Amino acid sequence: MGEFDLIARHFQRPARRAVLGVGDDCALIQPSAGQQLAISTDMLVEGRHFLSTVDPARLGHKALAVNLSDLAACGALPLAFTLSLALPQADNTWLEGFSRGLFALADAHGCELIGGDTTQGPLNISITVLGEVPPEQALLRHAAQAGDDLYVSGTVGDARLALEVFRGHLSVGGDVFERARARMELPTPRVELGQALRGVAHAAIDVSDGLLGDLGHVLKRSGVGAQVDTGWLQGSAAVSADLLTLPWTRRLDFALAGGDDYELLFTAPVRERERIHALASDVAVPVTRIGRITAESGLRVLDPQGQPINRRFASFDHFSP
Ligand code: ADP
Ligand code: MG
Repeated sequence: MGEFDLIARHFQRPARRAVLGVGDDCALIQPSAGQQLAISTDMLVEGRHFLSTVDPARLGHKALAVNLSDLAACGALPLAFTLSLALPQADNTWLEGFSRGLFALADAHGCELIGGDTTQGPLNISITVLGEVPPEQALLRHAAQAGDDLYVSGTVGDARLALEVFRGHLSVGGDVFERARARMELPTPRVELGQALRGVAHAAIDVSDGLLGDLGHVLKRSGVGAQVDTGWLQGSAAVSADLLTLPWTRRLDFALAGGDDYELLFTAPVRERERIHALASDVAVPVTRIGRITAESGLRVLDPQGQPINRRFASFDHFSP
């Protein structure tokens, strides 16, 4: 099977919303009048972001999910994406699984594959997503204000639980592992929540490298500090029942610095509390208040008794020594 047969067989479908999709030198899309384009790229590298043994359908899902998560964090509506693939070989079974997982998530969000590039090489998947957002309404990292509440969507820490089991650092029951593994391999991008938060939330970011590390980006850009409480780690919508069974320090590490959560971390004025909970329930995604933004710079993590926790939480940094 040649490169063009491979594309035609696995990645070319009739254009839906796009003016022109896969097959020409360029794709053409028509954004809605007056909207801004939101653009984001994420690359997944074998051995770094996923294991060679991962189910290809799950990998197809995740490759797009991590990109949609970036659009979600900006409050953008997904439109289309491109896919650049380096493949060790043209394996039809693998490609069928991969494209099935990819298109299932794409179709769920009306996000259309409009082009890409395909080459032979070590397995590497790079996706660029295009979305649209009304001018001035994108949720950005610089917009946190002192006094804002700090929220996280869904649950955090489960993907790290799975990773630690894979690494042999932790052992848990098979059903616990499968649930955590699904959170790691099949993250749910919070696309509807992100759009619902437009005009209500101040700053937002998606949690990919660990909650505190990603919060740090918001604090730096916004020129503020934060207090993060941990009472919610003793039982709340933001911690799964499985994470709750772990000893306290592990729970702290996984939830606050685990990585691969793809939840939204956002700030909003105190007066919007009711609205936040109402819109979260409209989109059926729990959100939990986990702290607040402070005028004083720096990040303070408090134990459930309100005392400072003075230790480091390592965030995920691909180039850290
Ligand atoms: P060009 O030579 O102009 O770069 P290619 O020969 O690389 O074009 O690709 C042919 C067509 O197939 C283009 O429309 C390109 O966008 C599309 N394409 C290539 N790889 C993929 C892929 N993995 N997924 C979707 N479309 C792809
Ligand atoms: Mg090309």
